[in-house]
Amino acid sequence: MFHLLLYALPLASSTYSETLYPEWGQWLENKETIYEEKTEHQDLIIFENPRFGRVLSLDGNIQTTTADEPIYHEMMVHVPLLHHANPTSILIIGGGDGGILREVLRHQTVQKAILVEIDGSVIERSQLYLPSLSNGAFSDPRASVVVDDGAKYVKETTEKFDVIICDSTDPVGPGKVLFTPEFYGDCKKLLKKDGIFVNQNGVPFLQKDELSLTLNNRQPHFKHVGFYVAPVPTYVGGFMAFGWASDKSYRTPKKVLQERMARVKGKMVYYTPDIHLSAFALPQFMLDEIEKR
Ligand code: SAM
Repeated sequence: MFHLLLYALPLASSTYSETLYPEWGQWLENKETIYEEKTEHQDLIIFENPRFGRVLSLDGNIQTTTADEPIYHEMMVHVPLLHHANPTSILIIGGGDGGILREVLRHQTVQKAILVEIDGSVIERSQLYLPSLSNGAFSDPRASVVVDDGAKYVKETTEKFDVIICDSTDPVGPGKVLFTPEFYGDCKKLLKKDGIFVNQNGVPFLQKDELSLTLNNRQPHFKHVGFYVAPVPTYVGGFMAFGWASDKSYRTPKKVLQERMARVKGKMVYYTPDIHLSAFALPQFMLDEIEKR
């Protein structure tokens, strides 16, 4: 009887509810709030969950968790960087938690990685309370950090890049400017020949409008625009879409990807050359959405 009672007792922890959709969402046990701050740009919470580890939330939306972050960060980085013949200079917009930067710096071809994050608190607190995400990447001599609005940076910089990765929040609040034709046009001007642009493009089953939003806004600037997908458990509602834009087709022979894997240090958790190639196979509802624009 005693055991039963114990199990039934509500745990001392609280509950975190995501606010993405008014009519549907997810909740996670908040076993312990590690850090909370109303930064200059957004509400930041880092909390502990027994199943997903440390969780970073901004403005009520889950950004990343230590349990499933490798899926997202590997697919956002290794698809463009292994497609590219020799990626040496990389621009990361957003990505203040450091996960993208960590994966980029695994590539031995990379000589320079510039991360432009609007909210310095995200960088500072992620290094303190989510250290496994950046895993020392911020102190890599190839990395440099700019705390600024990514849309302003791409308008003003004279740097040139092989790959630009836009790891932003959704197209609301500070992230909104990172989904405009102007931003994509400015990014295109910064890309060297055969350069590639990829972006966080939401969960298409629930955020269909983000497909046409980014397609319409990227189309005028790139010959090949499209998407690839991967399942990220805490981005609820089905698989996540990644926007692809380049003047070169996204098709890469499997043999080439396998050979290029040798230039990446460490072990993958999710990415394989087969996963890379199959990620571009889109379901009919996405093809219909793309067609009907
Ligand atoms: N992987 C997450 C996702 O898929 O939603 C995104 C993670 S990362 C924490 C998102 C970052 O984008 C945040 O740190 C946020 O501060 C940053 N961000 C939002 N708008 C920005 C802007 N205009 N310029 C630069 N960074 C921006």
